[in-house]
Amino acid sequence: MSGSLHQNFMMTITAAIDKFNPDMAVISRAAEVIKSGGLVAFPTETVYGLGADALNPEAVKKIFTAKGRPSDNPLILHVSSVSEASRIVEMNDKALNLAVTFWPAPLTIVLPSKNEIPLITRGGLSTAAVRMPDNPVALSLIKAAGTPIAAPSANISGHPSPTDFESVYHDMNGKIDFILDGGSVKVGIESTVIDMTNPERALMLRPGGMPRELIEDVLKMRLEVPDSDSSKRSPGTRYKHYSPDIPVIIWHRGNRLPDNINPETSAYMGLDDPENFKTAGKILFSSVSDYARGLFSWFRKFEKGNFQCVIVQWPEDNSGLSEGLKDRISRAAGK
Ligand code: AMP
Ligand code: MG
Repeated sequence: MSGSLHQNFMMTITAAIDKFNPDMAVISRAAEVIKSGGLVAFPTETVYGLGADALNPEAVKKIFTAKGRPSDNPLILHVSSVSEASRIVEMNDKALNLAVTFWPAPLTIVLPSKNEIPLITRGGLSTAAVRMPDNPVALSLIKAAGTPIAAPSANISGHPSPTDFESVYHDMNGKIDFILDGGSVKVGIESTVIDMTNPERALMLRPGGMPRELIEDVLKMRLEVPDSDSSKRSPGTRYKHYSPDIPVIIWHRGNRLPDNINPETSAYMGLDDPENFKTAGKILFSSVSDYARGLFSWFRKFEKGNFQCVIVQWPEDNSGLSEGLKDRISRAAGK
C-alpha cells in the first residue's frame, strides 16, 4: 500500500466513510494498512488521529517522522474495549471504575505499562496512556486491526489539531498511507488525560474533552495538580502546541483591545459580540461546547485568510469544557 514515488513522498489513499454506519469494506482496507505497519488517519470524537499498530515499534516510529513529533512525547493507545486495555496496562479498581463508567469517551487514563507495549510508544516511560474513543469509525478500525492503535493528533507537530478531513489532508497528504474521511468531529479538543498510577492520588495531566467534575464525581476525590516531578512524566505538556501561523491574542470580557491591534486586519472569535471591535473576521459561538468544536478549525481558516492576528475570548467559567478550552487557548497564545 505504500506506493512510494520517492523517499519523501508516498501516495495517500483517501476514502469517505459514514461515521454512524461505517462501510466494513473500507474499514478492512484501512485495517490491513495498520496490520502491515502503515499509517492511517481516522476520525475520533475529539480530533482526527494519526494511527499505527501500537505494538509494532517500526510502525510507531513512522508516526513521529510524519508529524515531526519529539520522540520523548508518548502516544495514547486507542482500544476498542475495557478488556483490551486491561491486557496492555496494569488496571486498578479506581481506573477500572472510570473506564467502565465513561468509555467510550474523551478520557485517557495513564497506568503502569505491561511489557507488550514497546518503549517507543510510551516515550521511554514505565507507564502508558489508554483510551477508548467514542466514534464508530475509530472503534471498528481498532477491532478490525486486532491491535491497539497508537494515535496522536493527525497534524504537523505544533499546529492546531485537525477537526475535519481537509485539515488532515493539508498536513498529511503524501506522508501517510491512508486517510478515512468521517466528516467533522463532535468535541473538537483532545481528551482529558489523568494519571491513575497511584489510585489514591489521581492527577490531572491535561484538561480536555471530559469535564473534571464528572471524573471527580465518580472517583469521589479531587483530581490533583501534578507536582513538577510528575509533570515530567507527561512530556507532551512541555511543547508548543495548537498554534496557527498568526499570533493569537487573548481578550477578557470588559477589557479594551490592545492599542497595537488593528481590528480591520484582525479576526475575532468568542462567545460575546464586543460591538466596538470592528474586526474584519468575526465568529460567535453559542456555547462553550460550540467554541471548543470550532476553535482549531477557525484557527486554520483565519491563518489562511491573511489576517494579522486572531483575537480569542477567554471563557470565564470553569465547568464543562471550559478548563480544556482555556488550556488550548493559552498554549496557542504561547502562554
Ligand atoms: P497527544 O496525543 O499529542 O494529544 O498527546 C498525548 C498526551 O498524553 C500528551 O500530553 C502526553 O504527554 C500524554 N501521555 C501519553 N502517554 C503518557 C504517559 N505514559 N504518561 C504521562 N502522560 C502521557
Ligand atoms: Mg496533538
